[in-house]
Amino acid sequence: MEFRREPNPNRNHPTHCPYCASTALFPDTEGDFAWNCRECLRVFSVLFHGQNAAPAPAAPAPSSAQALADSLRRRGHTPGGN
Ligand SMILES: [Zn+2]
Repeated sequence: MEFRREPNPNRNHPTHCPYCASTALFPDTEGDFAWNCRECLRVFSVLFHGQNAAPAPAAPAPSSAQALADSLRRRGHTPGGN
């Protein structure tokens, strides 16, 4: 007889009940993703389905020297000037 289950890597941990905002949440035996709110007595599930791809890839970040030069230029300073 085995008492301990394998950990569920897809289980998420809500910080507040979505119905009453209570923080008195405990895992429930209803399912692998179920939580029990001890204040409003609701049992609900939180399941992570994945993450959508970004609509456009992020622009490459400039180097620190380039970012400094761009910042100075935006403020009216000339490179190598005063
Ligand atoms: Zn609740």
